[in-house]
Amino acid sequence: MKPQSETSDDAMTRSGIRLTPQRRYVYEALMEKRDHPTALEVFLRAKARMPSLSLATVYNCLDALTESGLIRQVNCDRASSRYCPNLIPHGHFFCKECGVVFDVPLNPSLATEWEVPQGTLVSHVEINLRGTCASCAQKPNTSTL
Ligand SMILES: [Zn+2]
Ligand SMILES: [Zn+2]
Repeated sequence: MKPQSETSDDAMTRSGIRLTPQRRYVYEALMEKRDHPTALEVFLRAKARMPSLSLATVYNCLDALTESGLIRQVNCDRASSRYCPNLIPHGHFFCKECGVVFDVPLNPSLATEWEVPQGTLVSHVEINLRGTCASCAQKPNTSTL
């Protein structure tokens, strides 16, 4: 069998997560637009396809998907958690002006530079970069606050 581009079904099967329709809609809502939505944004997207969906269910699904390793929870300061389906090692850039969050590919050779004490097992690395995105940096300084 030739490897084809992985579908959400493949990824779910591999992770061993039980495929409920709710989880599938939540996962697909994350996959269709990879802009690191909050739980509320995921809820609004998934609800468009599954009107019976509740916000509590979306939270449960997001927890289950995060635990199974299919998605990552992304946190910055005290803002609401965001969710990311990109499982390739990467950091997140947070724009302090417009709030955009985007993936920053991690150079694997740099990722091994951490001086972790011997015997320590690192299970996950979270890298947040903050600053001003390119489009905000171009704008004249017109603060909205
Ligand atoms: Zn991401
Ligand atoms: Zn920006």
